Amino acid sequence: MKLVEGVKHFKQAVYPSMLGDFEKLKAGQSPQTLFITCSDSRVVPNLLTQTGPGEIFVIRNAGNIVPLPGSGELSVEATIQYAVDVLKVSEIVVCGHSHCGAVTGLLNLDSLESLPVIRDWVKRSKKVLEKFSCCKTEVPQAIAANVLLQLEHLRQYECVANAMSERELTLHGWVYHFESGEVDFLKEEPADLH
Ligand SMILES: [Zn+2]
Repeated sequence: MKLVEGVKHFKQAVYPSMLGDFEKLKAGQSPQTLFITCSDSRVVPNLLTQTGPGEIFVIRNAGNIVPLPGSGELSVEATIQYAVDVLKVSEIVVCGHSHCGAVTGLLNLDSLESLPVIRDWVKRSKKVLEKFSCCKTEVPQAIAANVLLQLEHLRQYECVANAMSERELTLHGWVYHFESGEVDFLKEEPADLH
């Protein structure tokens, strides 16, 4: 199995050179960033941001979706609360990516008829459909709009709103183009989505 071979290589060839880093991390973690991105295998957060152990706290799901608070998605909500209230991160990045299957599915919900759980999940971002509807050529714009929508959702979390008013916490929207290595750093234009 390729993964087991990888683990062996890590233990023998990589870990020894990072021993000092892991020793320091025994005392605890204090990442500055909560990084929310898609589960897509082509997105590798530590590779993209050139960070190592202890530096970014990560939430991943299909479509890098932040459900509205109170919607019952406790996995995401609890992880955000821990990052903001306990780890006291100073920035949250929502990172979408090119060729995102979740956003492509959102733009063509009929294609997800036989995948009802996925359909219900991506519908957490259905507000994107107010601007983009069922057109493949609109996928890139919808990917960016989906990221901005998640920033809107984040601001509705009490812990995020409190931290933004009481201390330094900033929100950032990115779109990563894995085929070129470029990242679009989005400017927030929430009004666009209304
Ligand atoms: Zn994706």
